[in-house]
Amino acid sequence: MIISQNPYTGETLKEHREFSSEDISNALEKADSQFKEWKGTSFSHRSKLMLKAAEELKKNKQEYAETITREMGKPITQSIAEVEKCAWVCEYYAERAEKQLAAEKIDTDAKESYVNYSPLGVVLAIMPWNYPFWQVFRFAAPALMAGNVGVLKHASNTMMCGEKIEQVFLRAGFPEGCFQNLLIGSKKVEEVLVDERVKAVTLTGSGGAGGAVASTAGKHIKKSVLELGGSNALVVFEDADLKEALETAVQARFQNTGQSCIAGKRLLLHKNIAGEFTSRFVEKVKALKAGDPMEEETYIGVQAREDLAKDVEKQVNESVKMGAKILTGGVRKKAFFAPTVLDKVTTEMPMFNEETFGPAIGITTFETEEEALKLINKTQFGLGVSLFTQDHERVKRLIPQIEDGAVFVNELVKSDPRLPFGGTKKSGYGRELSQFGIREFVNIQTVYIK
Ligand code: NAP
Repeated sequence: MIISQNPYTGETLKEHREFSSEDISNALEKADSQFKEWKGTSFSHRSKLMLKAAEELKKNKQEYAETITREMGKPITQSIAEVEKCAWVCEYYAERAEKQLAAEKIDTDAKESYVNYSPLGVVLAIMPWNYPFWQVFRFAAPALMAGNVGVLKHASNTMMCGEKIEQVFLRAGFPEGCFQNLLIGSKKVEEVLVDERVKAVTLTGSGGAGGAVASTAGKHIKKSVLELGGSNALVVFEDADLKEALETAVQARFQNTGQSCIAGKRLLLHKNIAGEFTSRFVEKVKALKAGDPMEEETYIGVQAREDLAKDVEKQVNESVKMGAKILTGGVRKKAFFAPTVLDKVTTEMPMFNEETFGPAIGITTFETEEEALKLINKTQFGLGVSLFTQDHERVKRLIPQIEDGAVFVNELVKSDPRLPFGGTKKSGYGRELSQFGIREFVNIQTVYIK
């Protein structure tokens, strides 16, 4: 049994019967035979259905958002925003996929030479619970528009979201088998991945899961994309617009109750503004409204599971033992971890050198640009960095030396269908979104006609 449980109330929402090997095989058969039809459909046909999916999401956003909130504790206004963003990515690819995948003529000594982008087949998507709709749609919209079909292995604690997403595509009129939710725990992933009907895999989640899945994919020579953890730096230089930087930094760390891969997790402050910034930051964090995630004014909900709150508590406590100082928060009650700010965080502490997946942030100060750069890159992860400064020259100097997949200036790192998204180092490889994302699961076919 796979159990969906409300982390705020503790209520059991649903007990799912896990798929047997026969169920898995039937689903893959359905997917594979649908692929043979689907790959031959026109872009305009796929586009019409994808726009219907966007409509369905917008029309029933309350229903979908409530499922997210009940299953993983995200405050309801943030769940609604998530569903709306899913509609956006459906519209984005419905309108652009044909152009993004149009054959590209290349001049050579051939009479005619060009590149085709054709679909691969059944793609397995292994997804996490933190943005249980968005992570899936940012894979599914480009994958289906490209002519692939998808099977989803959602996180065990958000299986109801997986069912609802399948429902979105069916209600939109996608044929059965185009997108299916597999009710399986992680132990059954290998069985799916090694099946010859599955051609590729994408995983969003932790490094442990990513490594396990990528090694199976590698053994069976299947394409993989990995979107893993992050520990983004928020870097505030002395010339930054402090008011703007404060607002943005609070949102960057605390939205989604801190459970975002691209959250700003390390706050790096220039020593000349550190005192003022820190006290204003702490005031703002104290003012964040925690409470029932179903209530509209709640900004901080509970974590998606109690063990996740315990993990953050441990990272905070260990950092304190090593010399960090709690300025606010630091307490846990079941799955709720109070918004926490730690000062005097050094690079050896878990608050700096591990990913913290909850509402807690550590402050480290620097004096020179070189020191700031060293701190930015001193992490095993490489998803993104936010720089707060008015100095354009500084930005231009720093960007080429930053190792991450994204640099945002005077803004939090965020995903946008129009821009590529992905990491370096232990944050994974491959890209999602934009024209880069839609070209991950296609055969880039060279054609040469003499
Ligand atoms: P997780 O434990 O790795 O789970 C993610 C998915 O992988 C779940 O569906 C999980 O299934 C499955 N899984 C776990 N171990 C597996 C294994 N050995 N083989 C096959 N599948 C396996 O991650 P999480 O705790 O849910 O999510 C948080 C992590 O995701 C954080 O590190 C976060 O930074 C990262 N993340 C990254 C991005 C990005 O775009 N880069 C976005 C969001 C989150 P079960 O639930 O059944 O175990």
